[in-house]
Amino acid sequence: MNQINQGIPFVDLKLQHQSIQTQLEQAIQAVLEQGDFILGQAVSDFEAAFASASGVDYGIGVASGTDAIALGLEACNIGVGDEVILPANTFVATLIGVLRAGAKPVFVDCDPQTALIDLQAAAKAITPQTKAIIPVHLYGQMVSPKQLLDFADTYNLLIFEDAAQAHLAARDGYQAGAVGTAAAFSFYPSKNLGAFGDGGMVLTKDSNIAKKMLLLRNYGSSQKYFHIESGTNSRLDTLQAAVLREKLPYLTKWNSDRYQIAQQYNRELAPLASAGIIPIQNHSGIGHIYHLYVVKIDDSCPLNRQQIQAELSALKIQTGIHYPIPCHLQPAFTNLGYQLGDFPQAEKLAKQILSLPMYPGLSNSQIQAVVTAIASIVSSEPQQLLSV
Ligand SMILES: *Cc1c(COP(=O)(O)O)cnc(C)c1O
Repeated sequence: MNQINQGIPFVDLKLQHQSIQTQLEQAIQAVLEQGDFILGQAVSDFEAAFASASGVDYGIGVASGTDAIALGLEACNIGVGDEVILPANTFVATLIGVLRAGAKPVFVDCDPQTALIDLQAAAKAITPQTKAIIPVHLYGQMVSPKQLLDFADTYNLLIFEDAAQAHLAARDGYQAGAVGTAAAFSFYPSKNLGAFGDGGMVLTKDSNIAKKMLLLRNYGSSQKYFHIESGTNSRLDTLQAAVLREKLPYLTKWNSDRYQIAQQYNRELAPLASAGIIPIQNHSGIGHIYHLYVVKIDDSCPLNRQQIQAELSALKIQTGIHYPIPCHLQPAFTNLGYQLGDFPQAEKLAKQILSLPMYPGLSNSQIQAVVTAIASIVSSEPQQLLSV
């Protein structure tokens, strides 16, 4: 129980790396010896391995998930004059990617049970300019591939998946990154597959999009000093690719650890439903990879989210909020013309959601300690709690 007295972190990356430390050090050492720091062997190796694991033909490594969205959309010929539908409740990078591609972001609301994009709401946002939809596979759960494909078919849209939280997630026989025309992944350190710094990748089944991505990430050049696109410098570092290549074989195991942890949270939190602690629902079975385990603190709870988070923090239990302000209400984007009240479900979720500790290696007793702490917090007298 020593572990618990020291508190429970929200994520513990050290734990994951300890078990394969020698292997990771050797991989880094090999790059130092080879000296192929830019677009080296490990990059093409990892691109091929990750694409193949995800069931698509092409993977193009870039500098971040944000770049994967921006450049990926550009490679799909989405840009000025095009409207792109995306959920209001996503990490701001989805929005930034659309804006950087030059397209117009069109937000829609989400399903309050799963926090995933509401396709009925999306249908109402269609205009003659709508070219694409970005389903965000939020928290590690895919947006229903069948419904998405039907939707895209009905309105003649391109699907560009934001799979930054969904490495090797699956649903109804489809894999994340293999549903749409192209998909963006992030290897930010705390993602299910994380680098030792920033990194990202575009996956696609389309060889022309893959070819264009290769140009866009490398100054638009097909050969040195010959530029056929106006590209940029956004490459996945060889060092990062070497780390990711070593970690990839463990990802399925790490994802299933997360799934088991989520099952235990579900079981132990069930009695707290009457106290207003409601887990975000899983509609995709074992294909959910639980990048995050999120509960809603709903109106029937005697305490609000802020109070519960503060109480947990006092007990040295770290939590997160993903995300506290929906994109349409961020101060930087008031020029898009949205306002409070536009997306009631996303706005309500932003006030209620709380992400509990979640990482491979989180122990049964730690999970129990988190749930016990929540139970004691919500069952105590509010007065007494406020004075703590
Ligand atoms: C992490 C994340 C991104 C951005 O990835 P970076 O590598 O941090 O640029 C985009 N979309 C979602 C949903 C994310 O979680």
